[in-house]
Amino acid sequence: MNKFSWYEAKSVEDAVKKANATASDLLGKKPGGSSVIFKAGGIDLMDLMKEGLVNPSTIISLRKIPGLDRIEYDENAGLKLGANVALAAIESNETIQEKYLALHQAVAHAGTPQLRNSATLGGNLAQRTRCWYFRSIEHECYRKGSGTCYAQKGENEFHAIMNNSTCASVHSSSVSTALMAFNARVLITTAEGKSKEVGMEEFFVHPEVNSKNETILNSGDLITSVVVPPVSPHTKSYYIKYGVRESHDWAMADVAVVTEISGGKCKNAEITLGAAAPVPIKAGGAANKLIGKSITESLAKSAGKASMKGATPLAGNTYKIPVFEAIVKRAILKAV
Ligand SMILES: Cc1cc2nc3c(=O)[nH]c(=O)nc-3n(C[C@H](O)[C@H](O)[C@H](O)COP(=O)(O)OP(=O)(O)OC[C@H]3O[C@@H](n4cnc5c(N)ncnc54)[C@H](O)[C@@H]3O)c2cc1C
Repeated sequence: MNKFSWYEAKSVEDAVKKANATASDLLGKKPGGSSVIFKAGGIDLMDLMKEGLVNPSTIISLRKIPGLDRIEYDENAGLKLGANVALAAIESNETIQEKYLALHQAVAHAGTPQLRNSATLGGNLAQRTRCWYFRSIEHECYRKGSGTCYAQKGENEFHAIMNNSTCASVHSSSVSTALMAFNARVLITTAEGKSKEVGMEEFFVHPEVNSKNETILNSGDLITSVVVPPVSPHTKSYYIKYGVRESHDWAMADVAVVTEISGGKCKNAEITLGAAAPVPIKAGGAANKLIGKSITESLAKSAGKASMKGATPLAGNTYKIPVFEAIVKRAILKAV
């Protein structure tokens, strides 16, 4: 690990200003761009530094910014989660358990209790893929800008089975799978100090659009909070994570289902898949199968099948198709 300087940000404005100032200093000295980076819980950042994937000259700690660790709920405005909220705080929040069950479940299955105590929501959304080719110093892969995805013909059992022709990595945030199903929005203060709000589908970027980052964040952009819209009393949700191990591991496949059931019929449905594509995606065709109908086992099964329409698995991960079909079906039935 190289030497770096440490800066304790006092406010959001202070953090982005420092990031901007440091970036322009460094741009003057170092061709190739800035090497200033934010740190929240440090779980992913420390790995990225140890793996030689980032070499910041300045680390800006966000941990002491007042107010960023708040969870607020209002019946009309919904849920507001500050970027520094620890995953453990989301897990133990009773309102989230009651109204946003799939979010509670996604967080409760992320990593381990120790990790969830340090890991923050902002860092979770901005973490990088755990694709072993990306994480390997020996592979200049597509995500590092080389244009070559080694997973296509290499070891690809945990990789993407959809939208995977350029890069088959999957994003590691299973928390995002649930947030996307609830149509959450991400609030950002840009490096220039402007406020921006984007939906989860816009926040995540496919590799064809930006090969070097999974999100729309540019250097110095700061996530300030995530807003989850209010749910109706008829909203039911469920999240399932499938993995090699029950704990201490990322998802091989995960799904979040959010439905609104009224008069015995499904009025609205959202189904989101994680670890299926390079970023979390909505399975719109599967959700549409449910709308206007009473949920039965056979309908849930056909939605599970529909969720995999257009899948293009690689040599080592065809098993993911029946896994997704099964967990989509199961999550729908559990939700309702
Ligand atoms: C063994 C293991 C298992 C795991 N399993 C899961 C899992 O099942 N599901 C899951 O979702 N995650 C899982 N994780 C990932 C873990 O949840 C994330 O690493 C963690 O949430 C990152 O948060 P952090 O606060 O530590 O971020 P940091 O490491 O501090 O930051 C991560 C990245 O985000 C950037 N960043 C941080 N905060 C902000 C902000 N406010 N605005 C803009 N950029 C920011 C940093 O610059 C850095 O690039 C696992 C991790 C480990 C080690």
